Amino acid sequence: MSAKPIKLLQLYPREMNIYGDWGNTLVLSERLRWHGYEVEVIDYNPEDDFPADFDLLVGGGGQDSGQNKIKDDLLAIGPRLKELAAEGVPMLVICGLYQLFGHGFTTATGERIPGISLFDAETVAGEGRLIGNIALDTEEFGQVIGYENHSGLTVLGPDARPFGRVAAGGGNNRDDDTEGARVHNVIGSYLHGSLLPKNPRVADWLAQKAVEHAGLEWHPAQIDDTFAENARRVALSRPR
Ligand code: GLN
Repeated sequence: MSAKPIKLLQLYPREMNIYGDWGNTLVLSERLRWHGYEVEVIDYNPEDDFPADFDLLVGGGGQDSGQNKIKDDLLAIGPRLKELAAEGVPMLVICGLYQLFGHGFTTATGERIPGISLFDAETVAGEGRLIGNIALDTEEFGQVIGYENHSGLTVLGPDARPFGRVAAGGGNNRDDDTEGARVHNVIGSYLHGSLLPKNPRVADWLAQKAVEHAGLEWHPAQIDDTFAENARRVALSRPR
């Protein structure tokens, strides 16, 4: 075990933590321990003291009402989050927080919830929701599998690149085949499930970046991912 813990910040677990998204934190902390590293999970909720430093950030989805509750705090910490992202801190934000890491989300009632513009992406609620299993092709992680459930339709601007291309499912907006966004070591995505239990390659990429950010060397252990492989197979075989 390394003496220095990897600090994992869970962003807004009270309001932004839906459809099992907390599973992403669980997977990252467990896999880091299996790889031989100590982990400290820090919960951050609105108006807590924002930690001076951490190595990895995870944030989940939430209802429009949850997004409204955290929006002022997110705008306040946004400049610091952007600095940390530029320094290479790995981050994974899902659905509701993915939308607010972009320029903003306009709800079905026409209310605009502003975001922090870490991603060049704009989201507007569409008619109906995109719901179901989804598979992506990604350059770095191969096939990524998850579950989407959102009203927001996201369009990427020229400064954002997608997390993946939709092989089956709706993705960012059901029209342009993109899903999610990437900048620096930050991944935004609509994929719940939660995402990481079924996608160990994504989990270990985030874990490696976090270990390196902590100034430690990445020496991964051999992990038996049979359960993850079975879960991927079952999710792929199920209709939306
Ligand atoms: N409220 C947002 C939407 O429906 C986000 C939903 C979510 O995080 N699951 O698009």
